[in-house]
Amino acid sequence: MLQFCKKCKHHSFLGVKYCPKCLAELSWAPASGRAELFSFTRVYQKSHPGFAADIPYLVAVGRTPEGPLLALRLVNTEQARVGDALEVHFISNGDDEPTPVFRLASG
Ligand SMILES: [Zn+2]
Repeated sequence: MLQFCKKCKHHSFLGVKYCPKCLAELSWAPASGRAELFSFTRVYQKSHPGFAADIPYLVAVGRTPEGPLLALRLVNTEQARVGDALEVHFISNGDDEPTPVFRLASG
């Protein structure tokens, strides 16, 4: 899901109530679940105990076809290239709510 402005058809993912383009109230709309790899980094710092066992891991910034950039972990590869096709998946760690992650698109 992405935030969507019915008035000016702008998608955003800012977590705000009003459209940054026209100030109309935003609603939510289904998203494609796809993105193109815009940038990425490999994380070596232990910033949260829950990720300690996964170090090093990739964090990718993907540009969605709807427009917004999303920053999520990239989980199914150690090798990534700008421009790679990505898909959003959700992983579950027990009792927590599912976490969105990027995976390289399967084709
Ligand atoms: Zn708008």
